[in-house]
Amino acid sequence: MRHRIAVAGGGPAGLTFARVLHRHGHPVTILERDPAPDSRPPGGTLDLHKGLGQLALDKAGLLTEFQALSRPEGQAMRILDTTGAVLRDWQPRPGEQTNPEIDRGQLRDLLRDSLDVRWGREVTQVLPGTADGTLVHYADGQQETFDLVVGADGAWSRVRPAVSPVTPHYTGVTSVETSLDDIDTRHPDLAHLIGDGSMAVYGANRSLVAQRNSGGHVKVYVKLRAPRNWHADLDPTDVEATRTRLLALFDGWAAPVLDLLGHGTTFVHRPFYVLPESHTWAHVRGVTLLGDAAHLMPPLGAGANLAMLDGAELAEAIAANPEDPDQAVRAFEEQMWVRAATWAKITTAGLQRLVSPDPTEALALFDDVQPS
Ligand SMILES: Cc1cc2nc3c(=O)[nH]c(=O)nc-3n(C[C@H](O)[C@H](O)[C@H](O)COP(=O)(O)OP(=O)(O)OC[C@H]3O[C@@H](n4cnc5c(N)ncnc54)[C@H](O)[C@@H]3O)c2cc1C
Repeated sequence: MRHRIAVAGGGPAGLTFARVLHRHGHPVTILERDPAPDSRPPGGTLDLHKGLGQLALDKAGLLTEFQALSRPEGQAMRILDTTGAVLRDWQPRPGEQTNPEIDRGQLRDLLRDSLDVRWGREVTQVLPGTADGTLVHYADGQQETFDLVVGADGAWSRVRPAVSPVTPHYTGVTSVETSLDDIDTRHPDLAHLIGDGSMAVYGANRSLVAQRNSGGHVKVYVKLRAPRNWHADLDPTDVEATRTRLLALFDGWAAPVLDLLGHGTTFVHRPFYVLPESHTWAHVRGVTLLGDAAHLMPPLGAGANLAMLDGAELAEAIAANPEDPDQAVRAFEEQMWVRAATWAKITTAGLQRLVSPDPTEALALFDDVQPS
């Protein structure tokens, strides 16, 4: 097989796709907008599920490496009430490998390894059906043609318009992210409060969540049901004004819990957008979508897992049918749409309960998912 295949996006979907296809002996051109691997902070930690992300890593031949890097202890989950009293303190059993955590940067390095990524290659438009195949336009004005272009370029995909007019819409829930470093030495009380994995406190239409990454790094997330631009009057460079506004949202909560917001030096606003729960399109020869580009959903621990399994399965489908990759893509799309729609329903319902007027909903959701 010598089809010219490109994937736009070097995230979990694109890298897994390229890695698995590469393993089957087929080259893939990886087009990544970031100018370099370390050009922006890689983000937080991801839990990879046994039947999803871990299955994809197995298909990539990377499960053993993943197990060496991942943090099973990160599966621990503690829920407090707004007075700081512990309501749930779930600990993984020894050897529990259902959803271990891995830093996003570690995962990216693991998947990337020897793959040849074209950094600084921003796709601006994709035009299928030209005489020479699918034409890709780049931000620098250059263009190139491939037999198949896979859009793994995330929520705001530039490949998606080639198959679908749909764009993401705001869920009504937004988040603000900050972080703490060297928590065990610099903030031992907070380290104790958080435990080995994650800690969450739920109030009416808001929550405060802290999650350990590797190396004593902790991400703290405020989640809030609010208009998308609720912070429009805040100067984004004024960290103290943001802190004061955030603390006011949690007025009356216990001081040790509020201390999670007391130390961060940056606050990043991340409104949650989604695509429709059942996003499908009429198949277009020479182009398809994977991961968030195809099925952006609320961030409740599924998106990266699905993105990776999409990538692995599409690669395997193409490798198994090298004479007719278009047929492989068609069959894959049908399979992806069914799985993604199931998870979109689960995560959308989950977000309603996690950021709810009634905070007992969040606790009930935890008990449904993680019965002790
Ligand atoms: C706070 C938070 C926590 C999360 N936690 C989890 C979790 O624990 N478990 C889980 O499974 N999921 C989690 N998710 C969801 C997960 O992050 C996404 O679903 C996942 O990253 C999607 O992977 P992707 O490869 O499809 O897209 P992305 O990760 O968005 O990667 C897209 C890539 O494409 C590149 N790109 C973008 N535009 C272009 C362009 N025009 N040209 C070329 N390249 C481009 C980007 O630079 C990027 O490298 C979380 C999300 C958030 C926001």
